[in-house]
Amino acid sequence: MRVVYQIINFLILGGILFLIGRKAVTKMIKSRKERISAEQEEAEAGTRRAERARCLLAQQEAENAEKLEELKAEEEKRIRRIAEESSRRADRRAAELRASTDDAVAGEKLRSVSHIMRDTSAKLIPAVSALLSSEPYAGRFREREPELLDAILPRITLTPGDRSYIMQYGFLYVTVQSAFRLNAGLVSKAEKSASALVAEAGGKISFRYEVEEKLIGGLRIKVGDTVYDATLKNALYGLGVRLREYGTDGGLDPLLLERSVRGILSERRDAVDVYQRGRVVSVSDGICWLDGLADIMYGELVEFENGEQGMILDIEEKLIGCVIFGDYRKIRQYSYVRRLSRMVGVPVGDELLGAVVGPLGEPLDGRDSLHCTESRPIEFPAPAIIDRQAVDTPLYTGIKAVDALVPIGRGQRELIIGDRQTGKSSIAVDAILNQKGKNVVCVYVVIGQKDTAVASLVELLRTSGAMEYTVVVVATASDSAPMQYIAPGAGTAIGEYFMYGGRDVLIVYDDLSKHAVAYREMSLLLHRPAGREAYPGDIFYLHSRLLERSAHLSAAKGGGSMTALPIVETQAGDNSAYIPTNIISITDGQIFLESELFNRGQRPAINAGLSVSRVGGSAQCAAMRQVSGRLRMELAQYRELESFAQFGADLDDRTGASLERGARTLRALCQPQHSPLPVEKQVLLLFALGEGFADGIPADRMREFENAMYVYFDTFRPGLMEEIATGRKMSAELMKELKDALAVFAEGYSCQTAAN
Ligand code: ATP
Ligand code: MG
Repeated sequence: MRVVYQIINFLILGGILFLIGRKAVTKMIKSRKERISAEQEEAEAGTRRAERARCLLAQQEAENAEKLEELKAEEEKRIRRIAEESSRRADRRAAELRASTDDAVAGEKLRSVSHIMRDTSAKLIPAVSALLSSEPYAGRFREREPELLDAILPRITLTPGDRSYIMQYGFLYVTVQSAFRLNAGLVSKAEKSASALVAEAGGKISFRYEVEEKLIGGLRIKVGDTVYDATLKNALYGLGVRLREYGTDGGLDPLLLERSVRGILSERRDAVDVYQRGRVVSVSDGICWLDGLADIMYGELVEFENGEQGMILDIEEKLIGCVIFGDYRKIRQYSYVRRLSRMVGVPVGDELLGAVVGPLGEPLDGRDSLHCTESRPIEFPAPAIIDRQAVDTPLYTGIKAVDALVPIGRGQRELIIGDRQTGKSSIAVDAILNQKGKNVVCVYVVIGQKDTAVASLVELLRTSGAMEYTVVVVATASDSAPMQYIAPGAGTAIGEYFMYGGRDVLIVYDDLSKHAVAYREMSLLLHRPAGREAYPGDIFYLHSRLLERSAHLSAAKGGGSMTALPIVETQAGDNSAYIPTNIISITDGQIFLESELFNRGQRPAINAGLSVSRVGGSAQCAAMRQVSGRLRMELAQYRELESFAQFGADLDDRTGASLERGARTLRALCQPQHSPLPVEKQVLLLFALGEGFADGIPADRMREFENAMYVYFDTFRPGLMEEIATGRKMSAELMKELKDALAVFAEGYSCQTAAN
């Protein structure tokens, strides 16, 4: 039994073990299976990934290939572009080169043609007119007559002059002229049309028809003083004007000539020229009296038949007074005069810098032409108050006596006045020389001076390198009074061109007394009533109009400026004569030069008592103001003491020292011609004088002392000079340093002079 039990137990144990073992084996098999299937899945995923990667790779490869293609295409394009660009550039350069050689060749040809043309241009017009008056042209013009009349009639209007004539006389002259006899229908058409127009204004017409062979072809109608001109003669006149313009250029263009002649021949409907015409009633001494020109205005330009020009200066009820710019002897009585409908002007432009020109802008220095494209009228309104700003920037002349005593600001008008040969022009010229490198444009207007004086002035400016920024406008004593009269206006117009362009300008009028004399001459010839000293009453207005044009423009107007230095000559120091008093009252101050001082060797011979600058103080740098303050007082005192000392009275030591000091200061203000001094040196000198560093120096050794001082400071103390040159107020430290330096210099200088 026990055995059975044992067997049963064994069997149970075996069964249990079997069950447990089977479970464990199944579990093991299962987990292994799972692991295998997971690995299998992973392997599949890996395969899939690999597949995807392969796809991506293929895709990438395709993209890369595409990109490569694109890059290749782009690169090719770039290379092609560069190649094209460089070939274009090369083409362009070649074309440029070809053009420039062509230009040079063409220019050369034109020059040679123009040389021939210039000689023959006078013969050209008659030749062309002879050609045009022959067949077939003459016939062609005859055919155009009705058409030309139709072009003229709608353009006819009555001017205010015509209307007042009709009001006064009740009728108006109307004349029709033609080169060939017109058919009666055309003449009566013109008459009817004109008469209807005049009837509207309440008058009748006095009609005349003339055949005028000189007109070559076409027709013209004169209504009152206005001519409606569609004749060949007028077209040729236009051609002549253009030839004249191009003739002075040195390059008359044959193409232009051809085009113009073709234009004349072509059937242009706009071939009607409208202008007013008058007649010369009398001519003498550079002026003439004209009849007609009912609507002309003061200052307008007219042209005489021989090409000379004139300017209207007098308008009376029946006659018009005109001054002639050219040679009046060439103008015949009863010849025609044409209104040009523009004011007298002068060509302006940057090209003028360095040029010597006449009052009408014609080059006088041997150039053919100045190629200016702009023109400005010689009479122009002065800038309004709102367009101006205060004068606050100094314009240094480089002359000690001027910069210290009568400082000039940009936009100021400072008169230079004195007897003849007292150094007036020299001050103005030195002021111009001092503008070198300061970006100031200078205009020197010469009125009524000798030709030799002008030549030496230009030579001086040229050799000192001042011509680069200077324009010289010349009307010498040998020019006619009208030329001298317009010269200042022309110079001012040139100055205005630069001023309104935002530049600073210095203009010198040398001299306005000669200008006044020229105006007096013209006015007396024009029978104007003579006023004080026989000058016409409006001479004050003339000069104030001229000088008011100098101004310091506001920032809104570009901030440019024009500083005027008019010069006036006095007789025996009489500054109460008419012209000097006029100009003194117009300007912002005067530099008075005295013969007596000049003869005593005080040069520049500036009379400190009578000279004044009414705006200058604010236009002086602070450093200069600091040192020049007591100068004027000192000089005035000296002059007083000097006249007192002349009586030979016994002088006490203090007065003696004062006199000596005054003489020294006066001598220190002497300056040789054409040697402008920078402002820092002027300040240094005045500082040294004021602080008494020159006290022991005799007056006649002042120049030597001064020069030695400049050399010392330039060599050993350049820093100090730079500090002063800033123009700022000198600080106490700077002044102390200056004093120390001056003490060292003065000691060294006195030792040196003692040793000598
Ligand atoms: P004009 O009345 O003839 O126009 P002006 O008053 O303009 O004469 P300038 O021609 O400038 O005077 O000068 C007259 C003479 O004085 C000239 O010979 C000139 O060389 C001389 N002169 C002018 N200034 C000085 C100077 N600072 N130092 C020495 N000589 C001078
Ligand atoms: Mg002079």
